[in-house]
Formats: sequence, structure tokens, C-alpha cells
Amino acid sequence: MRVSGLVIRTGVPLPPASGSVRLAMMHQDGVTALRESMRLNGQCCRSISLTWGLSLARLPSWTSTTEEIHRRGLWTMSAQRDFLIHVWSQARRQLRTDIAARTLPSRPIRPPASDRRGHRQYLALARSLHLPRDTSQLTDPWHDLEAAARTSLARAVDAYNFLEDSELSDLAHRHAHHVAALVGGLFGCNIEYSDDTYWDVCRLTLMHSRWGMSAGFTATRNCSLCGQDIDSCPHLLDTRYNVTVRHDADGACNVCGRLNCPHTDGETVSAFPRPVMSQLQLHEVSLVSRPRDPLARFTKIELSQEVLRGGLGEDPTGRDICCYRCLHPCSGFGQLPNRD
Ligand SMILES: [Zn+2]
Ligand SMILES: [Zn+2]
Ligand SMILES: [Zn+2]
Ligand SMILES: [Zn+2]
Ligand SMILES: [Zn+2]
Repeated sequence: MRVSGLVIRTGVPLPPASGSVRLAMMHQDGVTALRESMRLNGQCCRSISLTWGLSLARLPSWTSTTEEIHRRGLWTMSAQRDFLIHVWSQARRQLRTDIAARTLPSRPIRPPASDRRGHRQYLALARSLHLPRDTSQLTDPWHDLEAAARTSLARAVDAYNFLEDSELSDLAHRHAHHVAALVGGLFGCNIEYSDDTYWDVCRLTLMHSRWGMSAGFTATRNCSLCGQDIDSCPHLLDTRYNVTVRHDADGACNVCGRLNCPHTDGETVSAFPRPVMSQLQLHEVSLVSRPRDPLARFTKIELSQEVLRGGLGEDPTGRDICCYRCLHPCSGFGQLPNRD
């Protein structure tokens, strides 16, 4: 099985491997991601109803379809799938018709006067999505909605990855389902085909595999004065030394570490030694259920020919495959298999 994923993010502060600081950072990052996802999802739903006129009562949701599946007693996957495809494609067709009706050049492009509130809402949405404010300049409202919904889903999954061990995990889990169903139902979720291989890229499904990659890495802290390991070199951190200023190839000053500084090459100044982080050295990557970087997860997993033939009854050989798993009720989490 081939997989592809993120091992560790760079350029952002990563939480420590354990302890209360880790919990606090994860909580904060998780809440930020969840808020962002909810805001985008809310904008999408408001725009669908207020700008494009699809009543929210006609827009299915993961909660409503899950309840309906239970009420009707649809226990087999195929019965659920038929029901879900029917419900969502109806909504998608209606929304496409509504958007076409309001953007068709033969119709007035300004929203009707009775729709002033909707228009104001649209302007607010346009501002926050960086869209042109004038509907006549809108090239493709469908793609704008789709982009907002897909970003909302990506952030919902981030939020769950940060919050899975917190009291918000249930909320984040349900929210991810909610957004994934909207994205899959209206805009579609596809199995990726590249390099003669089908790849599972469904964010919701990948989110339910609770394993990620942990990177074992070290960084040595070197002394700014002599370049050796600061823990073993003769310089003391609380003592000033006379240093001859020089700037390295990148322009960083050996005295203060900054790129633009008042020091000139060759002058002697009295300075404390500073720890300088050397390059990160990656030692190993391992599969764990709680990766050091909570977002270090798989982004795609190879779907073997056997799995596809088993599921589809035939070899798809390059044809498009749609994913409907993200519309279904939750079927639980996959845990990391026990390995010795
Ligand atoms: Zn939600
Ligand atoms: Zn999917
Ligand atoms: Zn030193
Ligand atoms: Zn300097
Ligand atoms: Zn779930």
C-alpha cells in the first residue's frame, strides 16, 4: 500500500511532545480551526439561502439524512446510498437552477428590491470571501461556494485532529461530518486517479483513520561565538566576550543574529554567547495514533485493485469514481493496528 502524507509542518510553532503546554496549544489551535470552519460553512449556507434563494429547509444536512435513514430503517449500504444520492442530487439541481436564474444575463443582474436583505448578506459574504461585490462581475458563483465549502471541510478536519482528546472532540467530529456531507452532496467527493492508481483522498474518511506520522528529529544548539555545541563549549551564557563582528553568507550577524543590525564587519564588540539552532535532522518517521504534529496525517492512501474490484464488481480502469462515504452516517474510527 502506498500512502502520501504530511510528516511535519515547518514554519509554525509545533506543540511539545507532551504535557500541559501541548494540551493548551492543541486546544487553542483546534478552537481557531473550528471557528474558521464554522464561519465558512455558515457563509456558504447563508449565501445558498439568502443570495441564491434555496430555502434551507430544502438543503439536506448530515444530521437530517442520518435521522431519516434511521427513521426509514435503511440498514444496507446500498439502500442508504440510493436515498442519499436522491436527496442530495435534488438539492444540487435546485441550487444550480437557482444560481442560473439569478446570474442569467437576460434577467436583471441586481437582486430584486424585495431581496435587499439577501443582497446585503451577499455583500458581506463577498467581502469576506474576497469576491467582487457586484454580482455582474461574478464569474462563477458555484466555484466560489465550492471553494468556501472545501476550505471549511479542510479546517474542520484540522480542528478534529487538534481536539480529539479534548471535551470538544464530539462537537468537532459531528461538525466535520456536517461539512463533509455538504461538500460531498453538493460539489462531489472523488477518488483521485493518478500514476495508474486510485487514491483515497476523501478527507472525512482519512480523518476516521486515527493514525498519522510522527517524525523523530533533533536539532543541536550551537554557540554563536565558536559554532560548537553550546552545552559543551567553553563559553558561559552569562559572561560577555569580545567578539569580532562578521556577517555570514546569508547576512546574519554573529553577534546579534539579525540580518539588519548596527554592527559592522571587523569591529570588536562585547557580547554574550547565544544559542543558534542548527539544521533540523530528521531521523525516522513512524506511524502513531497521536503524531507529534497533530496535522501530520495521510493526505492520500492507495486503493488496491482488489479493494476496488471487490467494491465495484469490476475493474474501473481509469474511469471516474465518486465517493459517497462522506454522506453516510458515521461508521466509526479506525485505530492503528497493533504492531510489535
Ligand atoms: Zn456544523
Ligand atoms: Zn468522500
Ligand atoms: Zn562557544
Ligand atoms: Zn549585529
Ligand atoms: Zn464519524
